[in-house]
Amino acid sequence: MSGCDVLIALGLIAGAVFHMTMQSCLCELYKKPLLTLTDVRERCVITKDILASCETVKTNAKNWMELTRCSYCDAYWLIEYPFSEHHGGGPQCAYRVTGLKPEHWPVGITQKIRQLDEDRAFFDVLGPEVGPENCQHVVCDRLRISGSAFCIQHHFESITNCFTSNELYSRVKRFLGLG
Ligand SMILES: [Zn+2]
Ligand SMILES: [Zn+2]
Repeated sequence: MSGCDVLIALGLIAGAVFHMTMQSCLCELYKKPLLTLTDVRERCVITKDILASCETVKTNAKNWMELTRCSYCDAYWLIEYPFSEHHGGGPQCAYRVTGLKPEHWPVGITQKIRQLDEDRAFFDVLGPEVGPENCQHVVCDRLRISGSAFCIQHHFESITNCFTSNELYSRVKRFLGLG
């Protein structure tokens, strides 16, 4: 290897190190908000890598949440334990948060997403509307489902206070300030 080759090799190594340093933050890559339980599960898998560039700002012992800030780009990440019933508290799940008021803790979202997912699964197994009696809701001319006095939508509404599974996702979006 000539002296020139060594210089080129050193240059390549320096370039690679520089490149790695610049790539050390995943904040842009994972800034998409969490909407579904699948999003939450996928985020749990990558959370350790995301947090590699982050430092703790504050922790909340009451709800096990933690606020961290990225050392590279100053993005804030909130950490929750969405499956806290699991052994050891379950995996961490980090998601981007903005517009923070330092005196308040942001509201957690992963438990809400889990609840909505359960509601949607519940909705999906209801029905069909076999009747022959009509739904007992005041203004409804649909037939009742088996095992209930109501049609599928009014049965669901009486249990979850939501009208349809689409409404569930609207609720998630409103909750996240997206719609
Ligand atoms: Zn960052
Ligand atoms: Zn009905």
